Amino acid sequence: MLIESHAHLDDARFNADRDAVLQRARDAGIGNILTIGIGAGPDDMGCGIPIVEAHDWIYASLVVQPHGAEKVEERRYTQSEELSKHRKVVAIGETGLDYYYDNSPRDVQREVFRRQVELASKIDLPVIVHTRDADEDTEAILKEHRPARGVIHCFTSGDRLANFALSIGFLISFSGIVTFPNAKGLAEIARQIPADRILIETDCPYLAPVPHRGKRNEPSFVADTARFVSQLRGITPDELAGQVSANFEQLFAIKTS
Ligand SMILES: [Zn+2]
Repeated sequence: MLIESHAHLDDARFNADRDAVLQRARDAGIGNILTIGIGAGPDDMGCGIPIVEAHDWIYASLVVQPHGAEKVEERRYTQSEELSKHRKVVAIGETGLDYYYDNSPRDVQREVFRRQVELASKIDLPVIVHTRDADEDTEAILKEHRPARGVIHCFTSGDRLANFALSIGFLISFSGIVTFPNAKGLAEIARQIPADRILIETDCPYLAPVPHRGKRNEPSFVADTARFVSQLRGITPDELAGQVSANFEQLFAIKTS
């Protein structure tokens, strides 16, 4: 059973054919999807909830504010704490730092990230971390706040952040980027990391893996990334799927079957 650990199923690019997309995911052998609650902004933080209520095999995360943007109002933290009581909300995120897009001032990004890590610890949910061109500050904040459980999603950083993430008990999730021919360093990390720390995701509708590069991405394409990573690691796709699904269940405290 394959797991898709990071999809944006609420994205408008799925509005025309969301049911068909989900059916293709089922047909590709995907057992669970985690859909990330970003939506169009803070008003939409519960956007994953209608989806998980309609599909028992899909779970959702909540995010107060992705990638910074404007200053977050205090009530958003209370609101996400309330929404997190939903039985199928299993994580806070994605939250973190993006110094590539710099959509909001870096000090604001850091403050919002800190608050969400604190919130995740308070309500005992794992945190899904997004980091781009911000390894040092991401590391500093995680070191300071020490969330109990988490994952660095769509990992594109180097050995240093990978080693740090592993040292604090985090998982590392690889998207289709690992299949790109110019991502040799990333492929090496995916080859080496311990079996109990790896997740696979699409981050759809973005970043379709080879051989779908340039197209709209969708959960069924996680099979292509899983096949690529299993070859790197010298195991069968089924073995990798088994490891990933055990890791997913443990990180997000999901009881399947
Ligand atoms: Zn994402």
